[in-house]
Amino acid sequence: MKKIVSVILAVMMLLAAVSMFASCKKEDNTLVMATNATFPPYEFYEGEKMVGIDVEIATAIAEKLGMTLEVKDMEFDSLISAVEGGVVDVVLAGLTVNEERLEKVNFSTSYAKGVQVIIVKEGSDIADVDGLEGKIIGVQAGTTGDIYASDDFGEENVTKYANGALAVEGLKTGKVDCVIIDNEPAKNYVAANEGLKILETEYVEEMYAGAMSKDNEALYTAVAVFMWLLTTVFSREY
Ligand code: GLN
Repeated sequence: MKKIVSVILAVMMLLAAVSMFASCKKEDNTLVMATNATFPPYEFYEGEKMVGIDVEIATAIAEKLGMTLEVKDMEFDSLISAVEGGVVDVVLAGLTVNEERLEKVNFSTSYAKGVQVIIVKEGSDIADVDGLEGKIIGVQAGTTGDIYASDDFGEENVTKYANGALAVEGLKTGKVDCVIIDNEPAKNYVAANEGLKILETEYVEEMYAGAMSKDNEALYTAVAVFMWLLTTVFSREY
């Protein structure tokens, strides 16, 4: 019974959101999603094509809105300002909801849990989070991993890379002692590079959501409703 009520409510919300959104769609009818495609399995390249969970979610949402999806690959630390300034419509990038970002953009309901983990070389003397004291930590610039590491261990001990792949390269070549990054890409990087491992101690747990401009209430409502539908009514897990 509860499920029926929520489906009816969802359909009503959906119809309202779609009709509100239809009245203010852009002429070219594209939904422009920005991401940083070095974050498998959420976004990565398969040949020339960007694929992954976030691309799948955006494709489903664009389809429901009767729009064509365009995916733009950008530096991670320019994503928030791009969506805030209306250069792109939505950011889906394994993007963590936090207070600082909430001041700048609207977030949909969250669709996945992320955990910041620590990658080290096999045989490293770092065994847990306390072992990071005095070490050189590699991060992706502008990520929550960057923020936590800089706050907890001092900016002077943090080396910022443009993306996760470069940070992992820095670890392999001995430029940094460890990399702090989200758990799913961490698993992918460790599987693809011999001699690395993920420490069992988790650093920080967080939630991912889609970000949209505070100036486009109609798009925000439409995307947020579909995201809510995907994760709640259809119980999709990412
Ligand atoms: N979840 C992290 C953040 O939002 C990292 C995301 C990413 O690198 N794509 O900051």
